[in-house]
Amino acid sequence: MAEKSPDGLDLSKEWHEAADTRAELLRHLKEQVPRIFALKKELSPQDEEELVQSRLILPLECFLFGEHPQEGLQKLQQGSSSSQLCGRVFKEGETVYSCRDCAIDPTCVLCMDCFQDSVHKTHRYKMHASSGGGFCDCGDVEAWKIGPYCAKHDPGTATAMVTDDCGLEPELYERAERLFRVLLQYVTDFLVWEENFELPSELQPRTKEDAYYCVLYNDEHHSYDHVIYTLQRSVNCDHNEAHTHTALIDKEGRRAVKRGTLHSCQEAKDMIRSNSEHISLQPLRVEILHAAIMAHQTFALRLGAWFQKIIGYSVGFRQAFCQVSLEASADGDTPCLISRLMLHDARMYKGARKIVHELIFCSLLMETEFKRLFAIEFTKHYKQLQKDFINDDHERSISITALSVQIFTVPTLARHLIEEGNVIKVIVGTVMALLREHLDDNNRFFFLGYNSDKFSRIQVIFHDLRYILISKPSMWTEELRKQFLEGFMVFLGLLKCMQGMEEVKRQFGQHIAVEPEWEAGFSLQIQLRHILAMFQDWCSSDDEILLLTFKECHKALMRCTNQPFHREASDYYMCKHILHVRPYKVSQEPVSIHLPISRLLAGLYVLLCRSGAVERLQDPESCDFALLVELPLRCVVLAAQVSAEMWRRNGLSLVSQVYYYQDVKCRDEMYDKDILMLQIAASKMEPNHFLMLILLRFELFDFFNGSHSGKDQDELVHLNRLTEEMLYLLIVVVGERYVPGISQVSKEDVTMREVIHLLCIEPMAHSSLVKGLPENESHETGLESVITKVATFKKPGVSGHGLYEVKKELLEEFNPFFYHYSRSQHSKAEESQKKRRAQEGNDKALRPPVPPAFYQDFASVVRLLCCDIIIHILRRVLQRAAEEKTTHWTEAMIQRALHLMGQALLEEKAQLEDSRVEEVTFDFSLKARIIGSEHGKSVFLLLSKIKAVPSLEAQKDMIKWLLQMFEIIKCLREKSSPAASMSMEIAKPEESIQDKEKAERKRKAEAAKLHRQKIMAQMSAMQKNFIESNKMLYDNMPESGHQGEPVTSSESSANHQRELCVAVGPNRGSTPAEREVLTCILCQEEQEVTTRAAAMVLTACVQRSTVLTQCRGKIPTAHTDAVDGTSYPLFMPPELAVGTHTGSCGHVMHATCWQKYFEAVQNTTRNRLHAELIFDLENGEYLCPLCKSLCNTVVPLIPLEQLSFNYENAELIGQHLTMPRWIQVLGARINGLKSVTQDNGNNSSDDAKGFYGESQPDFRSILSYGVQEPRKFSDSIVDMIVVCATTVYRVGLQTAPNELCARVPLMTWNTCAFTIQAIENILQEEVKTLFGSLQNRQLAGLKAIVQFSATQRIKSSQAVIQRHFADMFGVLLPASSRKNTPSIVEVDFFHLLVGLVLSVPSLYQEETVDLHPSAVSSAYNHLYILRLVTMAHMLQVLFTSADFPAVAGEDDTEEAKAAAEWCSAMSQYSKRPMPELSGRAVAERVKRGIEPFLRCAALFFNCLTGVRPPEELLIILTVTAQVQMEPLCSYLALPSNVFQLFQEHRDTVAPLLQRWSESPVVSKVLNGKLQTVRYPRRRNRLIDLPDDYSALLNQASHFQCPKSTDDERKHPTLCLCCGAMLCSLSSCCLSQVDGEDVGACTAHAATCGAGVGMFLRIRECEIVLRASKTRGSTYPAPYLDDYGETDPHLVRGNPLHLCPERYRKLNQLWQQHCILEEIARSLEVVNVMFAFEWQML
Ligand SMILES: [Zn+2]
Ligand SMILES: [Zn+2]
Ligand SMILES: [Zn+2]
Ligand SMILES: [Zn+2]
Ligand SMILES: [Zn+2]
Ligand SMILES: [Zn+2]
Ligand SMILES: [Zn+2]
Repeated sequence: MAEKSPDGLDLSKEWHEAADTRAELLRHLKEQVPRIFALKKELSPQDEEELVQSRLILPLECFLFGEHPQEGLQKLQQGSSSSQLCGRVFKEGETVYSCRDCAIDPTCVLCMDCFQDSVHKTHRYKMHASSGGGFCDCGDVEAWKIGPYCAKHDPGTATAMVTDDCGLEPELYERAERLFRVLLQYVTDFLVWEENFELPSELQPRTKEDAYYCVLYNDEHHSYDHVIYTLQRSVNCDHNEAHTHTALIDKEGRRAVKRGTLHSCQEAKDMIRSNSEHISLQPLRVEILHAAIMAHQTFALRLGAWFQKIIGYSVGFRQAFCQVSLEASADGDTPCLISRLMLHDARMYKGARKIVHELIFCSLLMETEFKRLFAIEFTKHYKQLQKDFINDDHERSISITALSVQIFTVPTLARHLIEEGNVIKVIVGTVMALLREHLDDNNRFFFLGYNSDKFSRIQVIFHDLRYILISKPSMWTEELRKQFLEGFMVFLGLLKCMQGMEEVKRQFGQHIAVEPEWEAGFSLQIQLRHILAMFQDWCSSDDEILLLTFKECHKALMRCTNQPFHREASDYYMCKHILHVRPYKVSQEPVSIHLPISRLLAGLYVLLCRSGAVERLQDPESCDFALLVELPLRCVVLAAQVSAEMWRRNGLSLVSQVYYYQDVKCRDEMYDKDILMLQIAASKMEPNHFLMLILLRFELFDFFNGSHSGKDQDELVHLNRLTEEMLYLLIVVVGERYVPGISQVSKEDVTMREVIHLLCIEPMAHSSLVKGLPENESHETGLESVITKVATFKKPGVSGHGLYEVKKELLEEFNPFFYHYSRSQHSKAEESQKKRRAQEGNDKALRPPVPPAFYQDFASVVRLLCCDIIIHILRRVLQRAAEEKTTHWTEAMIQRALHLMGQALLEEKAQLEDSRVEEVTFDFSLKARIIGSEHGKSVFLLLSKIKAVPSLEAQKDMIKWLLQMFEIIKCLREKSSPAASMSMEIAKPEESIQDKEKAERKRKAEAAKLHRQKIMAQMSAMQKNFIESNKMLYDNMPESGHQGEPVTSSESSANHQRELCVAVGPNRGSTPAEREVLTCILCQEEQEVTTRAAAMVLTACVQRSTVLTQCRGKIPTAHTDAVDGTSYPLFMPPELAVGTHTGSCGHVMHATCWQKYFEAVQNTTRNRLHAELIFDLENGEYLCPLCKSLCNTVVPLIPLEQLSFNYENAELIGQHLTMPRWIQVLGARINGLKSVTQDNGNNSSDDAKGFYGESQPDFRSILSYGVQEPRKFSDSIVDMIVVCATTVYRVGLQTAPNELCARVPLMTWNTCAFTIQAIENILQEEVKTLFGSLQNRQLAGLKAIVQFSATQRIKSSQAVIQRHFADMFGVLLPASSRKNTPSIVEVDFFHLLVGLVLSVPSLYQEETVDLHPSAVSSAYNHLYILRLVTMAHMLQVLFTSADFPAVAGEDDTEEAKAAAEWCSAMSQYSKRPMPELSGRAVAERVKRGIEPFLRCAALFFNCLTGVRPPEELLIILTVTAQVQMEPLCSYLALPSNVFQLFQEHRDTVAPLLQRWSESPVVSKVLNGKLQTVRYPRRRNRLIDLPDDYSALLNQASHFQCPKSTDDERKHPTLCLCCGAMLCSLSSCCLSQVDGEDVGACTAHAATCGAGVGMFLRIRECEIVLRASKTRGSTYPAPYLDDYGETDPHLVRGNPLHLCPERYRKLNQLWQQHCILEEIARSLEVVNVMFAFEWQML
């Protein structure tokens, strides 16, 4: 590259002065572009960028500014104001916010930053993840009702009005236009360029190189792996390269994978195609491009980004760009540049599209006027763009059509587009054109064999129609009316194709062979639902339009010729009424569920009535209402027949259709409108005729007209069911008036009624209520505004969710026949309301509620209730029941009839109360009392008669109520003269009955009271007697006061007990005799736990744990095979980096039962799909048969040995066995044993000898202090000990099982110690007492583990145990043969204590005899070991402490003096002065430091010896730890002033202290050169989470993946243990663990939680628990919305706040080691069918 880069300024001047600037510019590009982008060897991105900047961009910018760009830019920035629009373009997955209170529609959204700075933060907002594309609407005044600006984008008041002026100097603007024109043309030309080998003539180089690229394109058919596989085999690249290529292809849409000659590229192309064809049937898309073309295309894209940058500098540049992009071409034939790009969109690859879309976002959409012009262009090409999109296989988010939401949702633009471009017509026309192929011969849709992918793409177009209709006009112009009506008619054309489509015909005999297609039709209906509502809404805003559209709709309906009658009209007679109609049978002729035009007409008619415009309908009687209602009635009958199971042979598809017809997703524009049409017809038709029509269409006419004898059983069942359905329909037609326009109700009233009825079924969560309510086009249900009026909120517990309960006073609005209830909801609601009434002491009559009065136009509907036919129907129904022919009636039928009568009576009563009797024409009660012609019984009489029918017991209360109503109405009618006295009197009959009932209840209550009093008297007499005879006992109660002797006796007994509450040393209490009889959960047989019996075992789970770690994230490798290493498992380092925890769910089994169970599980689960996801059979995992906890071993139950301690003996021995003597004896024994086993007795160093004193005791003298025979155990217990120990060893050390390994006993002691520490931690954390507050299962598990660990020794070589003891003892006393013994700051002393105590008995082993220390010997061993360890630990605490508390006061207590003395001695030994420390400060510090150790020790000795702890440790510790110290010390036989220990044993320990202090490690720590753990150790908790979830989302949005810089969607995931933010589920952060690819979370959990982890996936708002590589589960995040519900995946998007109780529960889950268990349980419940690759997390 010897060539000197041209000077930008010179070049730009040349261009400027040239005659044809464009030609000059292109000439420069022609030369330079291929030299940078089409080199043989690809440049590094940095080098390439540098060249682009200096050779291409700089000259262009010089040209633009006419000077050096930096200077130009500076001038520019001085005069410009920044944009008021945010315009941030969303990436996929980015969280966006909308305000439900202020957004014009839900598509108006804010970016995170704007939202946080806006007023909407405190409103009812919604949050959700963006699907990509779209931009922040901050600053768009049309998008928000209030608060359109965030604080950052608020123009303020001062600088508000300088926006329209572009602020550029004219010369600069002119230059910008010139340059943009050339460059945008260039960009457009190349992005739409389709020649692979030829360049445009202007850019044709003089000589054409033979250099080509083989370019691979993205498609939706091939997976990542396919592409990688293909590339590796085709173009000779390694896996990494192939991976890079593939990732870029996916991201950018294409990538050159090879450069070479045409021939070689052709070869590569063929290879790729054939290789990819092998895997999936389609070959990959590969093309060969000439290098120069590729180069220019690359640069064109680069220019796209450059444009974005330049436009961002100034409004003027932006306007210049918009101007250029919309300019008509010179010839006028080709569309403007931006249109060319749009029209080519579907043919461009992903990367190019993205650049174009972003360019449009930041230019055209940011300027109101240009946005308008662009919208017109967009509308002009709308149809073509949609067609291209339908045939494209890319997602919509990367299609230009997705831009519609930015344009059509702007109210002013939408209106403008309707007026100017008739956009409604354009959109509907596009849909029609695309659906044309689905039309049948009758011009109706027919979707058999449709392509669902394509169909779903077509459906998206309906969104655009919805956007256009979002804001209805406040003012109508003539032009708007004209255009809207035209659009409406096109829309009617679409509906006409749906009217009557997909007819069904009842199947006889055989079941249908193929289920017909129905989903497509219904998804169309669902899409149209809001559009239909919005059209009606628009129509209602203008009377003129309403009338016009109604007429058009009516005309359209009349023109529909579907479902014609096939026979001529005939006359039907019933009760002297004649109906003249044409016959039609739903059960025999085709019928359709799709009737959008009929339903739209019904909707419009109600609107006409509501506005009063119905009067202006020229000839209202021209509507034949019987004809209008015909099709909806058929549909209702169809639903009834399906429900009566008459259409069973038509299969599931019909059932589903009927379901959706009435479901909340569709009903408002289907079922509800059909009911509306029925009500319209009922209001207009003669009531008898209307009812006869209904009877006819229900095919019940003959059934009610003639006799019903001679029907077969099946038919009767159908007829009965149909009668039920018919009666129900009548209830609905008369009673359902909650529709604005039918009666005077508001939308809010309607919603309230829906909510009340939902809550009458059962108390519900907010989200269930939302699901049960219809949403409007903005996804609002109106629930929030009514919920507090109708319901009370019950807060959720730690799990579950908050519930709403309906308010009691609203229960009278409950209607058991509410028309939106499904069958099951109906019966549930009925049941729960009856139950409720019963609980409240009311009768069980579910009366019909009093409905709101009909509006005038519909008032005549109530005539149905008192016409002749209804009386006839009721009489027939009741008569059948009275005759008790059970096959001819059903209870449901009677129930409905009763309800209808109730409605009629309520109506009559209301009318009578409102007006004078003479005026009331509603005479149901009178007609009901008229004796029927045929059998001579009136409805009223029949009603009284069926009261006695036994099978109608449940309806008795209702009948009673009806009879009362008859009475009331009778009174109303009779005593109607003076209005004043009337009201008094009417109330009487009802009241008197109520009074009577009340009196009866009162009488019963009084009787009950008397009875109670009598019993009470008896009881108190007995009590008195009892107290008399047991006077002594009562007197001794403390509150009875001190009365001499008894008090002292109780005191002395307390003293006595006090002595016994010591677990260690010669004063230890006795082990109580404990006979445990347990029941095996498997065979349910009882067995006593004894040493000789067959083993009983506890379920248990062993796991590695970092819950207590002090160095999170650092886990030392445990793979050191040498037993005498300096660390784990022989010594636990003080950091407790990773321990081995053994937990149990506390369930007991026989060992044999367990073995059988385990084998059975193994056999069955081998065959079960994905069982390995739940538990790992290879590693012995199983689920507890009772509680399904995950377990991987069992712990044998070993009973405590009963022991009453011989204190005299102990005292005697104690006189000889002082601590120094004990040390000598032990030392002699250790050395002696060593010489026996290792034959190197002379090895003992002088150093050691010094400690053990001159007079070496005898090797066997240890035995003289008391030995006994060891305990014997049954074989099965021994076997189980091996099973358990092996699991602990295998899991704890992550190694292969080996029961002979010397580390097996170490691991059992370790798990014992660690489990105790974990439990102590939980107790402290939860502020619970050390004893008495453990859950039973924890206590049982703990006891079993301690006893097992104490016993495990018998299965190991005693020599090994002896060596372990000697090695461990070496920390305290100089060992003879050990090197690398850790210093006192390098071990955890509790682990050491447990190890020493459990291994010391091995010292008693003799070669030939199994011996065991006697109880007294053990007591002394425990005492001295504990004391030595405690002293060493105290020193450890002192040396590692830097923070001494400031304690005021003198060092005058014994304790303070002792502490001060000790401290000064220590500073001498360690040669580090510790000045200015008061004795009290030291005492406080040390006591606080050793407290956890003492607590653990107390737990340990309690489980080991069974000695009762002192009362103080059973009481809740409310005050301070100080209170605990004393009882703890006394239980452990330590002086309560622990510093006394040093004084007591001064001579013995002085040399030890000196030795401990002299260790080089200790001095390092003291000099601050080594950081160590402080005591008490830090208690680990899950990290703190913010209260507001959006704060976390905010944090996540700023998350940068540490390993990649691309802007692809990331899944930020938070480790709740340490707070690390990870990049999960992403290929960028894969890493290798044990040679396997794993995701970031899996890798993190391996070090952070020893494989176990708890993560929060922030964007999904979900906790992920994970255990092993293959196992994990999700768990709801501890965030709740205001309604007490969680929101996984932010589906609902309500504001969320932290629920501390739930988070505490998660914390417990973690601390109690229950994560594994939780995972297993959730997997067992879910029963996963597919395997989620948890290791990729
Ligand atoms: Zn924003
Ligand atoms: Zn903003
Ligand atoms: Zn708001
Ligand atoms: Zn059993
Ligand atoms: Zn269990
Ligand atoms: Zn972590
Ligand atoms: Zn990453």
